[in-house]
Parts: sequence; C-alpha cells; structure tokens
Amino acid sequence: MKKINIILIKILYSLYYIIILIFIKIRKEDYTNSNISEKFIQFNNKRVMKIIKNKKIKSNEIALLLPHCLQAYECTFKITSDIENCKECGKCVIDKIIKLKKKYGISVKVATGGTLARIFLKKHRPKLVIAVACERDLISGIYDSIPLLVYGIFNTRENGPCINTNVNVEEIETVIKTISEKE
Ligand code: SF4
Repeated sequence: MKKINIILIKILYSLYYIIILIFIKIRKEDYTNSNISEKFIQFNNKRVMKIIKNKKIKSNEIALLLPHCLQAYECTFKITSDIENCKECGKCVIDKIIKLKKKYGISVKVATGGTLARIFLKKHRPKLVIAVACERDLISGIYDSIPLLVYGIFNTRENGPCINTNVNVEEIETVIKTISEKE
C-alpha cells in the first residue's frame, strides 16, 4: 500500500512538474516570476503539513537544508563543512539560523549542491526536511526526494541570483513550532 502511495505521489508530482515546464515555456517566464512555481510549493507544503499533523515529529528530527548563497559573499568562514564555524557577526542570515538551531536542536546543513545534501540526509535520516532554495532547485529537489517529506521555502534574491540571498527565518520557525508544539 505504501509503495502504491509513493508511486501515485510520484505520478502526481511528475504531472505537476511537466505542467510547470510547459507553462513556463508558453508564457516565456522563468521560474522566478512564475506563479505556478509558487502554487506548486503551496500545494506541496499543504500536503506535507497535512501528513505530519497526524505524526509525532520532534524538532530534533527535523533537518534544515540551506543554499550556500545565504552566506555573506565576503565571509571566509567555512560554513559548508560545519555551520558552527559561523562567528555570528550578524552580516548575513546564517547568524539567525544558528540561533534557531540552538533553540530547537534541529540539524542544519549548508549545501553547495544536491550530492552533499543527499549525503547529509542519508546520515541524519530526518522525518521532515525544511528546504530553502530558488524556485528551480527547490521544485526539482522536492520531486527527487519523494517519499521524504520536504517543506519548501524560497530564498529571496535582492542582489540577483546566487549572491547574498536571504530567507524569512520567521517562516522557518513557524514550521518548526507547529511541529514541536505537539511534543
Ligand atoms: S553571520 Fe557573519 S560569520 Fe556567520 S556566515 Fe554570516 S558573515 Fe559569516
């Protein structure tokens, strides 16, 4: 039964993914400006929250996956090997993420690519992943991770793509709180 469910979800997500690609091609939009990318994430997040509503997930069973571009471009501390190498100077959002990590005991990985993210997930085996990324990476990452539950949050790119990006940390905390309140 579980296997059938996974196949059905994979088919549903595949259809959604194809629709996104067609829609973006027809409208000549990129993922960033696409309403349909937003809708996909809303659909996915609603589904994830609905499933975990009936499950017991503690905050230390949550993994937060972040893109490297959240780190201040000029910062030389190697947070990709260990986020604890951050000196919490406050120049970028990683400072707030560290506080969140300490407060809730979640595991956090700043990944430079999909392979590193996969190794991290294999090692930690979280029950829920909160993933932050740009539209294209987030949508394909969620699709590739099925049946793992991945709650997606877009980063914001005030300085253009892949440099000094940002994320709404309050949104991340709200998701963690919604889950850990049940402990
Ligand atoms: S908060 Fe400061 S030390 Fe930490 S990653 Fe950002 S710039 Fe580097």
